[in-house]
Amino acid sequence: MDSTRFLKRLNIHAIINSGGIPLKIKDISVILALDLGTTGNRAIVFDASWNVVASAYREFEQLFPQPGWVEHRPADILSALRRVIDQVLHQVDGRKISAVGVTNQRETVVLWDAQTGEPVYNAIVWQCRRTAERCRALAEHAPMIKAKTGLPLDPYFSATKMAWILEHVPAAKRLAKLGRLRCGTIDAWVIWELTAGASFVTDPSNVSRTMLYDLSTGAYDPELLNLFGIPPASLPGVLPSDGAFGRVDPKWGFSAPICAVMGDQQSALFAQCGESEGVVKNTYGTGLFVVTPTARPVWADHLVTTVAWERAGTRWYALEGSIFVGGSLIQWLRDQCRWVASAEDSEALAQSVPDSGGVMVVPAFVGLGAPYWCSEARGAIFGLTRGTSPAHIVRASLEALAYQSADVIDVMAQALGVDRFSALRVDGGASHNAFLMQIQADLIGSVVEQPKFLESTALGVAGMAAMTTGVCTDAAFRMSNPVQRSFSPRPLSGDLSLARWRRAVRQVVELAHDNR
Ligand code: ADP
Repeated sequence: MDSTRFLKRLNIHAIINSGGIPLKIKDISVILALDLGTTGNRAIVFDASWNVVASAYREFEQLFPQPGWVEHRPADILSALRRVIDQVLHQVDGRKISAVGVTNQRETVVLWDAQTGEPVYNAIVWQCRRTAERCRALAEHAPMIKAKTGLPLDPYFSATKMAWILEHVPAAKRLAKLGRLRCGTIDAWVIWELTAGASFVTDPSNVSRTMLYDLSTGAYDPELLNLFGIPPASLPGVLPSDGAFGRVDPKWGFSAPICAVMGDQQSALFAQCGESEGVVKNTYGTGLFVVTPTARPVWADHLVTTVAWERAGTRWYALEGSIFVGGSLIQWLRDQCRWVASAEDSEALAQSVPDSGGVMVVPAFVGLGAPYWCSEARGAIFGLTRGTSPAHIVRASLEALAYQSADVIDVMAQALGVDRFSALRVDGGASHNAFLMQIQADLIGSVVEQPKFLESTALGVAGMAAMTTGVCTDAAFRMSNPVQRSFSPRPLSGDLSLARWRRAVRQVVELAHDNR
């Protein structure tokens, strides 16, 4: 949409006040996207031409209280959010924010007291495997759960995390009895905070990850609520992804309506693929998320069937392969091994050796997600020799990200009955790594396309918010982020081998089964 039309629809008031001379886009209304990620929170302000006019990012601490456990302090998430909002409000007049979109790490749960606002326990993060035992005990229900929710019975999803807090934290039980307990995913909790307790709501893309939601009825399922012992009254209401989620309370420094909410992967999918079948995207963030949109739910054994979004009265679905460890493997190389000073340095170090020297890294730090689903698996490094250097292990780690993605893309193509996808659209922090993108193209035999603006997660929900408020059409949004760089597949070279990778994964899975 050109600036004059945008002005007419959005800010007639501004034109009148400026004597009819159109103001510069940056002087008028803007959209704020809040991206509540796993590693950190991000705020991005877009103008009507989809230029970024302000942005801020803040990491927060990852807590690992026991092997396989992952938590966040809810207060850390909130203070990182406050910081990034404050930062963008230094760059943009808060009164110009006409709409807010919220996108978030999914499945992670917070339980809190509706009266005091105090969380009863840390957020249990999607990566956390503490409920693996519980899932094993419920194995007989797995087919029913998959049939209703589209999800495999796995600690990844919210239900067993909520149940764990209800069982282990006395305050949760007490508050549930008093009717004061609130159980939410990060979107529900943060919207509750942003609206100063006025809204307790979520959207179908987030609720479809809780393992409590029946895809065919479009409602919480009483049998599942009973199975996991979740009080129905403690759960948020479900609004369409383009619903009216409430107004940001002025205590945040500005006030605007929240008019779009989607889980992070669905939001990235909305930006990258929109409502068209046959395209696939992979987000290389903390985890790796391969997702393709479908007009109807598609069921596949080793993948997740989920809601993509519901907007303008229509629901789209997605077929997804969630890989638990992606960029977090690079964080591990940086923080625990100290072999790279920054995630970006991994690219140069990997390229300082001609190949990985036979090293194979299986990064099953928190079990293996799609397409293997083995929650007891733990990471392994194969092929170490006296000559192995950090550079080999760093290179093998980047290869591991590409191998895991290739396995999911393969299974997904089979489920959809296609030979291969015409292109893989990429985004997320680690998609900046050109070495990784090239070997990804080589391994899947499809072109890898990188859009100009790689923060698709924030862009998707901002786009939906703009469409909801009528300041942008779908067609205009689709043209906003063209492909900037593409990586064409080359014949496989060096020691890249999917067959050897799959043998290594099999060994890790067998070891996990032996340890049961
Ligand atoms: P999230 O939204 O899950 O918090 P991001 O999309 O912000 O994640 O990406 C951050 C992740 O990407 C981190 O785990 C980081 O290690 C990884 N990362 C960032 N840049 C690079 C890079 N150039 N090469 C490899 N990994 C990277």
